[in-house]
Amino acid sequence: MNIAIIAAAGSGTRMASDRPKQFLQLAGTPVIFHTLRVFEQCDSIHEVIVVLPAAESAGFLSQAGKFGLRKIARVVPGGATRADSVKRGLLAVRSATAEIVAVHDGVRPFVTVEEIEATVAAAQSDGAAILVAPVTDTIKQVVDGRVVETFDRNRVRRALTPQCFRYDVLRRAYEHTDVTDHSVTDESVLVEKLGFPVSIVEGSPRNIKITTAEDLAIAEALLATG
Ligand code: C5P
Repeated sequence: MNIAIIAAAGSGTRMASDRPKQFLQLAGTPVIFHTLRVFEQCDSIHEVIVVLPAAESAGFLSQAGKFGLRKIARVVPGGATRADSVKRGLLAVRSATAEIVAVHDGVRPFVTVEEIEATVAAAQSDGAAILVAPVTDTIKQVVDGRVVETFDRNRVRRALTPQCFRYDVLRRAYEHTDVTDHSVTDESVLVEKLGFPVSIVEGSPRNIKITTAEDLAIAEALLATG
């Protein structure tokens, strides 16, 4: 059984809005339901665990039902950091039947079924695989306000989600993790620290993370272009 953990417990402090960004309307539907609809359509995903702010959990399942979402097995209250939230989701996975766990940001509604299927398949063969996008800007390493290194942009990628792992690999990675550490911004870094190789699947730059008000405007435009 392959399980998706959708991290949607952020408070949205960068959005200058009183609602977390995953609940803001995109073409009349909350962002989180756009995201969940894509996972609903994936044959390789059998169950979905949604991690939400504790205050948002009540009524979520009945709302999900109205959007035709049938795969949501559990709604779990999140923690103070993304890593804490994902760990709580992971603890809700039934270990006896779990094979691949796909972790995805609730605020990335433009991921496609094909991208999810390809990343799950890569994790099934390699144990760990993440979706990435090309880097079009030149990336500099900066220390104390000065450039110390320029990266060859053909050799770097933006790490997106989903990030997919064999269940035992991800459990092991989280066992050694301080989830209060704000530098843990994805799962891949934890698995890399175990010394476990992480494969990549080349994805589309359309798979944006809706973080700011500008992102929401970009998302409306992306939706309009299909
Ligand atoms: O914090 P960041 O912008 O990287 O958030 C990525 C995803 O992680 C969002 O979907 C957000 O809701 C989620 N998150 C969470 N729990 C937190 C913080 C963020 O589930 N404490």
